[in-house]
Amino acid sequence: MKAIAIIPGTVGTRIVDRPEPSITSPDEVKVKVKRVGICGTDREEVSGGRADAPDGQKELVIGHEMFSQVVEVGTSVTRVKVGDFAVFTVRRGCDQCAPCLMGRADMCQTGNYKERGIRGLDGYQTEFVVDKEQHLEAVGVLMEPLSIVEKGIEEALRLQAVRSPEAAITPAWIVGCRCLVAGLGPVGLLACMVLRLRGADVFGLDVVGVTSARPKWLNVIGGHYVDGRQVPADQVDKKIGPMDLLVDASGIAALEFNLLDALALNGVYVITGIPGGDHPLQIQGAELVRQLVLDNQVMLGSVNAAHGHFQMGADDLFQAHLRWGAHIGALITNRYSYSQFAESVTHHSPETIKEVIEWA
Ligand SMILES: [Zn+2]
Ligand SMILES: [Zn+2]
Repeated sequence: MKAIAIIPGTVGTRIVDRPEPSITSPDEVKVKVKRVGICGTDREEVSGGRADAPDGQKELVIGHEMFSQVVEVGTSVTRVKVGDFAVFTVRRGCDQCAPCLMGRADMCQTGNYKERGIRGLDGYQTEFVVDKEQHLEAVGVLMEPLSIVEKGIEEALRLQAVRSPEAAITPAWIVGCRCLVAGLGPVGLLACMVLRLRGADVFGLDVVGVTSARPKWLNVIGGHYVDGRQVPADQVDKKIGPMDLLVDASGIAALEFNLLDALALNGVYVITGIPGGDHPLQIQGAELVRQLVLDNQVMLGSVNAAHGHFQMGADDLFQAHLRWGAHIGALITNRYSYSQFAESVTHHSPETIKEVIEWA
């Protein structure tokens, strides 16, 4: 079967032939891959950045945002049957630390975890995949990026419920809260969607024209677009007002720090964007720490997701479809065949939101 592989640490991709995997234990599920999303992590990997091949292998099959159909199940599998649609999660725990043993590899404490398509395990840009039932979740190629968003926002809301007397007695604290999401790629727009579903007043910041695809998508779900070229992050507070919740999905370190200016008293700030490179950055350290302390603020980083976050994502996708219908699917703007992969990772315009490789 065909697969898209890289040699970690080098630039470029290649299409390789791999033996089709088969079920070898009763708790395994074999799926036929239907489509796989492409994100910033894939772009970093194919340009020689963060990625590791499996032990003893030179190549790594990439891809971690998959959508597939079950074609065969092991004898002990109960949650899915042949024909069901499903996704496999990405991270596999170290089997050593408490979070991993509790099924929360996203909070691994040893750092010895693996990730399919990223770190030490082959990924999903291929025709067939076999893995254990416990790593399986339901529906949709947007599930993996959505699970990242669900985790970050849930952590922020839980923190607020513990910290703020108002949020503690008001389960719907987020309703009407002012939230700013920076970086309107798929993760940012999905964050806007999740916050709109919870009743927040949502602002999305990017640096593209107001009539391009991402601001338009945001507009339809009731969000307000902020053009960062006219309202830089450090003027959001002055021009639009302070934000109770900030979500960063930009991966631009300078912006991530500048955004702190927009955070309201008692506010919480979730960062999911991972800056690439090592550009030095000057920050006003004393001023920043002073603000965090005197304004009771939390700045929190969040990566990967647990099974519960995939389930929250599935529920939210269902709600979003009821409310906005086909508009949700319109997040996928570009579809390519596997042979066009090289083109799909380099072509990225303001009109592009989510790119996927169609396998079947
Ligand atoms: Zn991704
Ligand atoms: Zn662990």
